[in-house]
Amino acid sequence: MSLSLEHALERFWGYTNFRPLQQEAMSCVMNGHDSLVVLPTGGGKSLCFQVPAMCLPGMAIVVSPLIALMKDQVDTLRQNGIPAAFINSTLDVEERRQVARWIHSGELKLLYIAPERLVLPGTLEFLGSAQVSMIAVDEAHCISEWGHDFRPEYRGLSVVRERFPDVAVHAYTATATPRVRDDIAAQLGLREPTTLVGSFDRPNLVYRVERRDRLNDQVLEVATKHPGEAGIVYCPTRNQVEEMAALLKARGIKALPYHAGLADNIRRKHQDAFLNESVDVITATVAFGMGIDKSNVRYVVHAAMPKSLEAYQQESGRAGRDGLPAECWLFYSTADLMRWRNMIDGDDEVANQVARDSLDQVAQFCTSAACRHQSLVRHFGQELPHQSCDACDVCLGDVDLLPDALVVAQKILSSVVRQKERFGGEYTALVLKGSKDQRVLQNGHDELSTYGILSQHDTRVIRDWVEQLVGQGFLEKTGEFNVLQVTPLGWQVLRGELAPKLLQPANPKTSKARKSKSVDEAAWEGVDHELFESLRQLRREVATQMKVPPYIIFSDASLRDMARLRPTTMAHMHLVKGVGAKKADDFGELFLERILEHLAEAK
Ligand code: ADP
Repeated sequence: MSLSLEHALERFWGYTNFRPLQQEAMSCVMNGHDSLVVLPTGGGKSLCFQVPAMCLPGMAIVVSPLIALMKDQVDTLRQNGIPAAFINSTLDVEERRQVARWIHSGELKLLYIAPERLVLPGTLEFLGSAQVSMIAVDEAHCISEWGHDFRPEYRGLSVVRERFPDVAVHAYTATATPRVRDDIAAQLGLREPTTLVGSFDRPNLVYRVERRDRLNDQVLEVATKHPGEAGIVYCPTRNQVEEMAALLKARGIKALPYHAGLADNIRRKHQDAFLNESVDVITATVAFGMGIDKSNVRYVVHAAMPKSLEAYQQESGRAGRDGLPAECWLFYSTADLMRWRNMIDGDDEVANQVARDSLDQVAQFCTSAACRHQSLVRHFGQELPHQSCDACDVCLGDVDLLPDALVVAQKILSSVVRQKERFGGEYTALVLKGSKDQRVLQNGHDELSTYGILSQHDTRVIRDWVEQLVGQGFLEKTGEFNVLQVTPLGWQVLRGELAPKLLQPANPKTSKARKSKSVDEAAWEGVDHELFESLRQLRREVATQMKVPPYIIFSDASLRDMARLRPTTMAHMHLVKGVGAKKADDFGELFLERILEHLAEAK
């Protein structure tokens, strides 16, 4: 008896609706038509091949680059009652034999395998005797040199097409520019693939960008807003990673560091602690995250500018994969820009220029007054239909646009000119503020017509505007002392031909508190908080017993739905999002019991 896609989705995953493009992507698999699917992180790519794998006869081969990811996915599938397995170097001989037996019996529905292992003649020979329903290539951008994560072992995959000429091949990736897309199709030898490109927008992520001026306080503020919730804090250096973890710990927040300088076993231990929820926060270099499927990360902090918007999209994208609201904070300084610039020193001048352009785009993103969601998707060649996203600092009104930005910018730029372009941002702000600082007086800059011309504003605010003008290319920092110079674009501003946009921090008592809350409130609407916490605790206990990460038992989205619906019967339990037949069988009673206890106590 064949199973429909809808039925499989509901029965094994407990979901009743498809995410955008999932149904189209699944239909390609069902029809045996090659496809190339580009969906953002959290868009639900895995289900695009997993669901049809359950509906087609035979076994799907899934090519996946990372051992950690394979295990996570297979564990998740098995929890849903799906016969899945992986073959990689972590299996011992007996385990490998077991998988082979499973394949031979025809029961296995999904086999995860690394590309280098799949292309071995022995593996191909062995799999040739199995009924293969499809070949899914996950993280397909790894095959392209033009992508950001090229893995030469992916190149060998073209042989798979030759070995299984009648089996359709499907490629999945979260990040692919048109050039990378073409490369994927060519390298894999896809036959007239249907290309499906989803929206790059992640509407549940709330982006906030702030100039870094008291980093420790800024990060602590974010972390304390999310007590007991999972967060990742990305820092640029190993030392900073260690310091940040120590700082958080000192403030009673359970945090551990993760970077390449730690021994393998320590790194794994810290990663596991994060996955198992025995710590809430991981402070890490960007090495952390690839292959982490944890769906309930509630915030990602960047303590410095990322090196490109692609990198930012990917790193911040590790928040909120479960579709619930999550925050992405970016604390930047133009010092970051300098740091990255100094690191660009390859032999290939074209590549260097690409890297510099990428940095400029990040700087522009940080300092512009445009919707962050819109800016990000525009970078990927898309456009959002709405004017306001209600999910970034700009649209939420956490930052206000300065009504007279042109005049303010002209005052700043003209002060820089009058200071003979020989001073930095800090100093310029002091002059504009009208400070009695010794250096200002000694230089006679209290005589300048721009002295004190912005005295009604805080020095910090003025300093911030200077940075915004740098970020937007109206000022440039030069030399080892970051001396400010007016750029040709800046001169256009001085002549009134161009008007920059400047942000000013909003009054925290007004819009910020009110509006930002409403986003989070919507996701918590009707949720019994106390019950949610109690269910989380139960999930943790079950997970510890079963030695799997808690989110594999139930996602946060499921627990919130449970704490909203508060089901009192098994039939009712089935209505909870993410509760499929197997999960209901395995955990339904246990969670029901906890809900009933809670309801009895509340009476
Ligand atoms: P990706 O591989 O694109 O990053 P995943 O396949 O890991 O995304 O899916 C992200 C999360 O969304 C997972 O927790 C998954 O169970 C959930 N999800 C996927 N499809 C649906 C759906 N149709 N309805 C509800 N949740 C879904």
